[in-house]
Amino acid sequence: MEQVPCVHCGKFFIPRNRSQNYCTKPDCQRARKAAWQRYKMKNDADYRIQQ
Ligand SMILES: [Zn+2]
Repeated sequence: MEQVPCVHCGKFFIPRNRSQNYCTKPDCQRARKAAWQRYKMKNDADYRIQQ
């Protein structure tokens, strides 16, 4: 597997799967979780609007 840059800190790391774009640093894992929550909240809002 080739190395990719972390989207949060820019450090190159070897992802465990294709969808992993944050390295394993705690800061970056926190950022990943926060981004996921923003994404989910946005989708939930879209979902509510559609109902
Ligand atoms: Zn990182």
